[in-house]
Amino acid sequence: MYGYAAGDPANSSDPFGLCPIDKDGIPCAAEYAPGVTVSSPEMHAALDAIAAEADKPLLVYGGDRSEEHNKEVGGAPASSHLKGEAADVIFEGTSKKETLGILYDSHARKDFGVRLLYHQKGSSLPEHSHLDLQSGPDITEQQKGSSPRYVPLKRPFNYP
Ligand SMILES: [Zn+2]
Repeated sequence: MYGYAAGDPANSSDPFGLCPIDKDGIPCAAEYAPGVTVSSPEMHAALDAIAAEADKPLLVYGGDRSEEHNKEVGGAPASSHLKGEAADVIFEGTSKKETLGILYDSHARKDFGVRLLYHQKGSSLPEHSHLDLQSGPDITEQQKGSSPRYVPLKRPFNYP
């Protein structure tokens, strides 16, 4: 295992799941749920950088979508998931709110120009953090019936 870790420095993935870095010297990276892909190289790199900075494995459980799949899951008609530039994520071993806080503070995320969108419980989609490459401020989708539907993300996150 140490032989592997000391091998190709270009290989920054964590094949043994030994993240955090003090266990094996390999930075944490994004991990993809079975069948999930994110085709944008920029987003791919951003997700790895966000995981490495947080020193936690970042599970990507939503990524690229076909038009059909996007309709099935109730995605926005112009969703970044259709362009391969979006990811639905959670840091393994943390709550959705903890994940939100870490993502909100992430310098790596801001450096890559990644926007954070948080769907609150009771909004159009299940509660989760969504990342994409759209310009504009970080926002949260409020509960259904709230007006406006989207508002700027701000601490404290006293969401339902
Ligand atoms: Zn999403």
